[in-house]
Amino acid sequence: MKIFGHEEVKKTIGLYLEKNYKSYSLIFEGKDCIGKKLIALKTAKGFLCEKNYTFGCDSCDSCRLAKNTILNIYEEKELNPHPDIKLISPENDKEIKIGQIREIKEFLKLKKEGGKAVIIEKAEKMNTEASNAVLKTIEEPPDNTLIILTTSNQNALLPTIRSRCKIIKFKPLNGEDIQNILRLKGIDENKIKVLTALSEGSMCLPMIIINNNKLFKYAKDFYNLIAVKSLHPEGIVNLAEILDKLDVKDIIVIFDILERIIYKKMLKGEVSLNLYEEFIKEQKKLKISIEKGVKKKLAVEGLYFNLKT
Ligand SMILES: [Zn+2]
Repeated sequence: MKIFGHEEVKKTIGLYLEKNYKSYSLIFEGKDCIGKKLIALKTAKGFLCEKNYTFGCDSCDSCRLAKNTILNIYEEKELNPHPDIKLISPENDKEIKIGQIREIKEFLKLKKEGGKAVIIEKAEKMNTEASNAVLKTIEEPPDNTLIILTTSNQNALLPTIRSRCKIIKFKPLNGEDIQNILRLKGIDENKIKVLTALSEGSMCLPMIIINNNKLFKYAKDFYNLIAVKSLHPEGIVNLAEILDKLDVKDIIVIFDILERIIYKKMLKGEVSLNLYEEFIKEQKKLKISIEKGVKKKLAVEGLYFNLKT
């Protein structure tokens, strides 16, 4: 797994880990889907490396096991993982609970000569109990421990946690990095152009679209309906019926894609600022209503007709 971009961040991490502290607590902050977790895993690999290379030497036993851990996560392999790296993620992408933090504490209790590394992914999703428990660990970390919290919003973490960590800010990926990542995935060049334009420096939307191309198609269909000046109720009724069968989260993604399409069209002068602003307002209303359980078909039609008037 190659790291794309983030050259400055890599340098900062390297210099910081040379300080010979007894333990390290770091916060990696930046947009979702830009590579924070991968860099955290590689930092853990370097921390545990027998030769102490910043991101690992790739040849010692520890590095080989760390590489297995990374492949298990990113390529769904089932290789023998590194026993001294622990990654915690929110359960069902919703919440990090106290039980998961207790696991970390148990894990850190068993001392290892080579050290231990813990990564808490999307740390902003820790609930209050979990946050307090993490704070205690960070206040008195065992020697030779690396703790990394990754987050899209450091302000959602306890100030007392933030003040005890070295905060490293990640910039969004640039267009070239996004293109290179997509090329590596074997995406064709025309599609790479479109996906990069929609990316806003993060791989979140491009990955969703790659895995479910229909969502992009529906967003485009919706845009075409908006772009046509006269009312076409039958078009929107048909599309709303199709969208009605999708999950709420997919509909939200469709309207996120649509938002970026309209934004790009506005920059090109193809749609008015007024329409874009109206859309943003309506998009917020739609999200709230479908999350509350309003019939998706009605919410989608409502958005369309409100835009037209
Ligand atoms: Zn090594």
